[in-house]
Amino acid sequence: MCGIFAYQGTKNSIPLLVDGLRTLEYRGYDSAGVVGVNSAGDVFSQKAIGKVSNLATKVEKHKTSSIYTTGIAHTRWATHGTVTEANTHPHTSENQRFYIVHNGIIENYKELKKSLSQKYHFYSDTDTEVVAKLIEDNYETDLKTTLEKVSLLLTWAYSLAVIDVEKPNMIVGIKLGSPLIVGKSSNGVFISSDVNALASVAGSYATLEDHEMVIIESWEYQVYMSGAMIRKDAQDMDIEYDVDELGAFSTYTEKEIHDIPSVLENVFQWRMNFSDMSLHNETLEELFEHDIDRIEIISSGSSYYAGMIGSYMIKDMAAIPVQVTISSEFLADIFLPDDKTLYVFLSQSWETADVRESLKIVQAKWCLTFWIVNVVGSTIARLTDMGLYSHAGVEVWVASTKNVIAQVGVLLMMAMSLWLKRNLQYSQARALIAELSELGSKIDEVLVQWPRIREIAKKYTKYQSMFVLGRNIFYPVSGEASLKCKELSYIHTESYSAGELKHGPLALVSPEFPCIVFNPEGKSYIKTVSNIKEIRAREGTVLGFVTKWEEQEDLYDDIIEIPKTSEIISVFTSLVASYLFALYLAEELDRDVDKPKNLAKSVTVE
Ligand code: GLU
Repeated sequence: MCGIFAYQGTKNSIPLLVDGLRTLEYRGYDSAGVVGVNSAGDVFSQKAIGKVSNLATKVEKHKTSSIYTTGIAHTRWATHGTVTEANTHPHTSENQRFYIVHNGIIENYKELKKSLSQKYHFYSDTDTEVVAKLIEDNYETDLKTTLEKVSLLLTWAYSLAVIDVEKPNMIVGIKLGSPLIVGKSSNGVFISSDVNALASVAGSYATLEDHEMVIIESWEYQVYMSGAMIRKDAQDMDIEYDVDELGAFSTYTEKEIHDIPSVLENVFQWRMNFSDMSLHNETLEELFEHDIDRIEIISSGSSYYAGMIGSYMIKDMAAIPVQVTISSEFLADIFLPDDKTLYVFLSQSWETADVRESLKIVQAKWCLTFWIVNVVGSTIARLTDMGLYSHAGVEVWVASTKNVIAQVGVLLMMAMSLWLKRNLQYSQARALIAELSELGSKIDEVLVQWPRIREIAKKYTKYQSMFVLGRNIFYPVSGEASLKCKELSYIHTESYSAGELKHGPLALVSPEFPCIVFNPEGKSYIKTVSNIKEIRAREGTVLGFVTKWEEQEDLYDDIIEIPKTSEIISVFTSLVASYLFALYLAEELDRDVDKPKNLAKSVTVE
């Protein structure tokens, strides 16, 4: 969360920085700010609440003829202090000499602020401003020496870019936990929170590791570790970051839901052979060689629900116990390492701080690790024993849809692979692979229903709260659907196992408090029907995501129809239908679907 972009070179930094922030905006869009300094030490500074486009408008309005060859910029996802201009980065020292942008949380900022308050005024509520004041307070010789000293006072986690207006040809960057990448171009050097923002401006890049410091001076850079210069080879810019055009769609979220059939093709292509109905993947074959008694999946957000869905698949097929743990809870708990457990880490970008930190704990005990990540080129591949990309392509904005489906696809292949190893059910596996070859067209059958789903969603915008229910593998499907509804529409939705409703939550059910129930044909169908009857007996409104609707029509007030398939296939189709429902719920309520309030795509703080 929060995007840092900085430039030092021969060009005017301000337009370059604002452009860089546009690519980083997925990291936060509470507010944005920029500071540039010219060779005479004159400062240009603008801040704006909300999107980067608001900052761009302000910058344009206050444009000057000066060339600010050094600058830092930031797009914020607020952690400490509300969304105000005062809390917007860059923050400055009292003497206005040092400007700073920060990604992360300084956990000991309160103690530091307390002692600094006797000497300095604070103009914001952020943890970041404390670092600006600390730099002033500890300044000696130069920024390098000062930041080395200051970094020892900070408790986790940060990436920082700092300028000193008295040294207008210099930027210093340092990181611990949060990401920082350096990019080199023919006209200068950039610093960015991600490599994509550098793809169109830099010819090469280097990713900083924890505790490394980069000093950019007069268009060149050097990297240091513990005060000593180190060799850091830059790699050629091999990343093409082209965001697809929206085409006929009005939001990226909608487009990405419609991309799902082609994403699934990517996921299964090369890993599954649809002509001889077999699995072909070296990584999955490697899994065969390990003696695995248990699996623990560690993830957060939508990836947590993908992990839970996968856990049902693995237990069902391979008969291996699987535990799914929310990554922040993994960090909060005691870790009892087990050498026969495979630890699986799921993340969209691999930037998710809670997941990354969990991996470090597992690795410190030499346990077997496996990653499933979407963003190709991520450092995770170097860090774990093995893994597979989810190959969902770029998810431009906040809500994860196509990547969740891709993660479930990868977990399904893992389940099938372990299933073949343990139970040798080739005929069943072949039947499932045959069905998977049709999955894209089954999803298309859901996508073409969009006008009807939109009509139904419109009806449900009037409710303030809803339960989202399912049993067995449809329990995590209901969890993911509920998450998507709340993050896009801001309607309060809560997921429960359908069987759990009678143990308390049923007290809330009424015609004004509806229940959305996932009940496609499958092993829990009859029991879930009983739960629906219990809701009906209390005059609860029910929207069903079902296949058997003709027989049970009287059970539901509304129905979203899922194609008749095996239970596993209907997990995918149900998710897609739920994404359309959440999308239209949000659109009908006039929400900013791509940029839901309070959120950011990548969650780099714990
Ligand atoms: N803690 C800083 C703030 O609230 C940076 C937030 C972040 O990186 O998400 O401004």
